[in-house]
Amino acid sequence: MHHFGAADFAEMSDLAKSLREKLGQLATVTPPSMMAEQASADGTRKWLLDVGSMNGVETVFIPDGTRGTLCVSSQVGCALECTFCSTGRQGFNRNLSVAEIIGQLWWANHAMGRDPKGERIITNVVMMGMGEPLANYTNVVTALNIMLDDNAYGLSRRRVTVSTSGLVPAMDRLREDCPVALAVSLHAPNDKLRDVLVPINRKYPLAELMAACLRYLEKAPRDFVTFEYVMLDGINDQPEHARQLIELVRDVPCKFNLIPFNPFPDSGYRCSRGDAMRRFRDMLMQAGHIVTIRKTRGDDIDAACGQLAGQVQDKTRRVMRRMEVSH
Ligand code: SAH
Ligand code: SF4
Repeated sequence: MHHFGAADFAEMSDLAKSLREKLGQLATVTPPSMMAEQASADGTRKWLLDVGSMNGVETVFIPDGTRGTLCVSSQVGCALECTFCSTGRQGFNRNLSVAEIIGQLWWANHAMGRDPKGERIITNVVMMGMGEPLANYTNVVTALNIMLDDNAYGLSRRRVTVSTSGLVPAMDRLREDCPVALAVSLHAPNDKLRDVLVPINRKYPLAELMAACLRYLEKAPRDFVTFEYVMLDGINDQPEHARQLIELVRDVPCKFNLIPFNPFPDSGYRCSRGDAMRRFRDMLMQAGHIVTIRKTRGDDIDAACGQLAGQVQDKTRRVMRRMEVSH
């Protein structure tokens, strides 16, 4: 199923006929159902996966030289309410099942096939689509194990990345259960600001998060954590923020990925100016860090980071509640 992309037990002619029949009686193979597909001029492709009840989540493929990265969703919406994130603003509906998570990789592999030399096109997976992967822990870890399994996708642990807003207890569990590469959405260098931008910080503040990163590194397949930092004009992009950030991560082997903020309607934020972004990057680099500014890809199809809106019917009715409170 995963290795050859078969969607029917009857196709699996390398299995004994009796086994195929038995499998057919026990289980079904149900490929994900896709509601829409878009392709960007830069080669980025985006699929909208139908997850029922008028809900859709997005999967994005980003080609970059010899690397092909699939950005996979883990939840329908997200309950963590980061203020600059369009998924978070939409509220939370439900967790994706294992089949819906791994189905995104199955589908994209199927849609893209292999390159002319027979090499696989998807070389890396990042759990950076919609949702907080560590808030759907059991299903995400099961799906990760299928990604790593030689009988399925056979990806190395270094090529599979979980991105988290910092659920500390789940980071500790992941280190024991399935230590893949780790990206942490930092976005602010002090608790006061992070409490606002990434509200889960009120539960797991920065000192605890940094300690969890260090513990994770004991088992991680890479010897650094990637810190993601969204660049918000005038909010977190000033020289004082860079100085605080350098101090914060002093003991944590890390790389920085600065993400230009991708605006969405009524976000209330603007992306940092180019000169502020470069100044911020240069200060981190002068302190000895490796820093990349993420290229915006698939902008013409709203496939860039933080633009994955999908279709989420918010079961928490949070937006309504908020409006009632403000009246
Ligand atoms: N929930 C996980 C993974 C999904 S989000 C997490 O928060 O890490 C993947 C990355 O996109 C995160 O770093 C997230 O903070 C960032 N992001 C969210 N909204 C964004 C926006 N509007 N512009 C740029 N990056 C954004
Ligand atoms: Fe959820 Fe991540 Fe968006 Fe925060 S940034 S609301 S954790 S998806």
